[in-house]
Amino acid sequence: MVAHACRACRSNSGNLVLDLGLQPACDYFPRHGDPGPDPVYALQMWLCARCGLAQLVADPTTPEEARGAEPAALIAQAADAVDRLGAAGLLQDGATVAEYGSPHGGSWLDRLTQRGLTAVGDDHPADVIIDCFGMMHAADQAASLAQRVSRLTPGGVLLLQYHSLDAIVRLGQWNVLRHGHYAYYSTTALVTMLGWHGLSPRAAWRFDLYGGTVLLAASRATEGYVPDASVRGLLADEASTGVRDPVALAGLQRDAQRRATGLRAFLAAERAAGRTVLGYGAASRAVALLRTAEIDSALLPGVVDASPAKQGLRMPGTDIPVIGPAELSVRRPGAVVLFLTDLRAEMLASYPEVERSGGRWVDADALTG
Ligand SMILES: [Zn+2]
Repeated sequence: MVAHACRACRSNSGNLVLDLGLQPACDYFPRHGDPGPDPVYALQMWLCARCGLAQLVADPTTPEEARGAEPAALIAQAADAVDRLGAAGLLQDGATVAEYGSPHGGSWLDRLTQRGLTAVGDDHPADVIIDCFGMMHAADQAASLAQRVSRLTPGGVLLLQYHSLDAIVRLGQWNVLRHGHYAYYSTTALVTMLGWHGLSPRAAWRFDLYGGTVLLAASRATEGYVPDASVRGLLADEASTGVRDPVALAGLQRDAQRRATGLRAFLAAERAAGRTVLGYGAASRAVALLRTAEIDSALLPGVVDASPAKQGLRMPGTDIPVIGPAELSVRRPGAVVLFLTDLRAEMLASYPEVERSGGRWVDADALTG
């Protein structure tokens, strides 16, 4: 086997910190009648010893996940983030802006142009370069960061928003690891990567989205920018979590096993008690959990999802069908396991029939063995 080369610094020195074994592509939803087996691929996270970037090892799949409906939590966070950037004076009227978006949606461009910024076309320089969960989808991290930096005008600011590795490690969010997501950023690693491109972090904002999302602003070090207290505080917190420590990250492996064991035990107990349990959220995060826990349709007869495009399909690597929200009223489940913890408030409001008929919502992340 050829040694993995870091996607940011090309170093071969590093550690495998999370190995989820063979997993199907998490966006490969076969028809319910398709007997499989679905193609599976190694799913592993590696931590670079040189630059500290946590990353996907191999990715033999070609992600094709379409833009879905944008959850209210994502929309609210975007509004909050743009307000904070405006208050910090980073969104000057008349400035130019370029966005690197996520294939999953969530563009900030309309909000920024409403504030008087002008969007420029691909490859044009811009005063504000925003990357909102975009760069994580690039296999070559060095090249994609270089491209963003090369477009910055003199005095320009690069804004990077990412789900922080610090939160992933602290909260045991092992199932963020998925094919197509190549990088899992700590602010610590990003500061190192930015430094190689002559950029210095200048300010950071934290958000509760996904349990811990960071928006980092960076500008050219030669223009006199230095990290402020918000950046220094983040780096100190990450040092205490140990975001560069392979031993700390290996805790994710234990978290994976505990959650898989917990889910399986819960479903087995409910079945033994004669109660029906459904899942909610046919999302990528659910795929690795269901596979790791070896759950089949006998334990979980369906995963509800509001997306019409997913009706009639089944969860990758399992025989569990994806079903529509109407089934919540028809089957009157005793419990609904929520695979998207962020959406709890939204679900309670959207589907009051679950609790009305005596059911309860259970966070998949709270089930630990
Ligand atoms: Zn590296």
